[in-house]
Amino acid sequence: MHIALLPSVVAFLGRDHSNFIDGAAHTSASTQRIGVVDPGTGETIAHLRDAQAEDVNLAVNNANAAFKGAWAQVTPYQRGVLLNRLADLIEAHGEELAQLETLSSGKSINLSRHIEVGQSAVFLRYFAGWATKIGGQTMSPSFPSLDGEQYSAYTLREPVGVVAAIVPWNFSLMIGVWKLGAALTTGCTVVLKPSEYTPLSLLRLAELAIEAGIPAGVINVVNGRGQVGQQLIEHPGVRKVSFTGSVPTGIAVGKAAMAADLTRVTLELGGKNAAALLADANVDDAVARFVQSAYVHQGQVCASPERLFVHRSLIGHVTQKMVATLSQLVIGSPLDEHAQFGPLSNKAHLDKILGFFDRALQGNQVVYGARAVDRAGYYVEPTLIVATGRDDPLLHEETFGPVVCVLAFDDEEELVELMNDSPFGLTASIWTNDLSKALRLIPQIEAGTVWVNMHTFVDPSVPFGGVKASGIGREFGSAFIDDYTELKSVIIRY
Ligand code: NAD
Repeated sequence: MHIALLPSVVAFLGRDHSNFIDGAAHTSASTQRIGVVDPGTGETIAHLRDAQAEDVNLAVNNANAAFKGAWAQVTPYQRGVLLNRLADLIEAHGEELAQLETLSSGKSINLSRHIEVGQSAVFLRYFAGWATKIGGQTMSPSFPSLDGEQYSAYTLREPVGVVAAIVPWNFSLMIGVWKLGAALTTGCTVVLKPSEYTPLSLLRLAELAIEAGIPAGVINVVNGRGQVGQQLIEHPGVRKVSFTGSVPTGIAVGKAAMAADLTRVTLELGGKNAAALLADANVDDAVARFVQSAYVHQGQVCASPERLFVHRSLIGHVTQKMVATLSQLVIGSPLDEHAQFGPLSNKAHLDKILGFFDRALQGNQVVYGARAVDRAGYYVEPTLIVATGRDDPLLHEETFGPVVCVLAFDDEEELVELMNDSPFGLTASIWTNDLSKALRLIPQIEAGTVWVNMHTFVDPSVPFGGVKASGIGREFGSAFIDDYTELKSVIIRY
């Protein structure tokens, strides 16, 4: 049964959505409208103006003024207090934000409440704690001391300045919060560019930031298609680009940032993440957890596994168990609290996944699913396919959807080759009861994160990012500080 929409959500949908600049809604002069579509029904629920270069210019200029003015006056302690206040407001407005997110992304309302909203508050409080703990080092230089002079040196960590934060559609609130939390705690200001598919929750968040007491201009939002992101990157006032999205766009973003006066850039991109189920694994437990990790939010999670390598002795048992588990998933509206599997987030993505299904069907590779669901909206079945061999293209292309491709392996040497046979290296997992085997495999796997007996879960204390074509830089832990600050060295003769 559908939950009822809050009156505040219905009112918010009806607004003329555009940008948020200098502490208030700012309506672009653009006449180009983008429809925001509910993937659960296929109906347009809101309208958005595609920002113009002058909107981007205004947002960056205001972010720059706040960086040098109001935000520079706020002490590190007070920055932490303000971020904690914003986390409190995210929780207080949790249902409203969750409904806005579910309506535009098709994410289950349970996931929106507990992950998108719940984890946004958790991550923001983590970042808030760093504001008072960012510091440099002291050193003793060994210059000659001819007249008895001495030397001392130290380093300062200074905020880079205005950060352009470009966000994808799969977890727009949470990924937006990751970027603004890192920027604000280090003393930077931010211009957020949400995905054109999911612009609503970050616009509401920017309003809550003003209510929390964060000065006008510190958080700005510009909305529109990729062109708006491009204009942001090329703006001379932007000192760092933090991008999360697909590999082809990420490569273009990286090149544009380098061309624009070597603007600092971090890239969190896609993957074709591998999971390895070893011969000694507890199959019942592993399959239940693997299905949860791989098919959450219909597989539209960058960290989720899409390649499953199973020891040959278990392949029949594992595929049987997977099919039994997938067939039990309740497909339904994301606004239905009892549904376990909802729609894909947009029509373009639906078409991409249906194309992938066609190729799997032609190759006779489908073990389960690979069909569209006959209802309004963008629903497909959770899908399991078998690879024809290690060179099968379906084993190598990221779907970013509810599609797992399985292949048997015989020994550990072959397993490592299979897992690393990808241009990507975001995440991986090993499922085993033998700790020695896991510890031997971990250093051989080319991935930014390796889980053992779990997959997909991220935590603010643990750095996250990719190797190879999955990106540059790390979020979370203390690793993010390097990317949002410049290191200044000071040397003193006395
Ligand atoms: P996308 O690359 O199409 O778009 C991402 C963002 O970039 C959007 O806001 C888009 O408007 C903007 N954009 C598009 N073209 C641009 C350009 N030329 N210059 C600047 N900005 C531009 O990605 P998507 O389809 O929104 O998201 C799905 C992809 O994101 C998947 O590949 C997924 O693996 C990846 N992803 C990675 C992570 C991670 O942390 N590694 C997290 C989530 C999603």
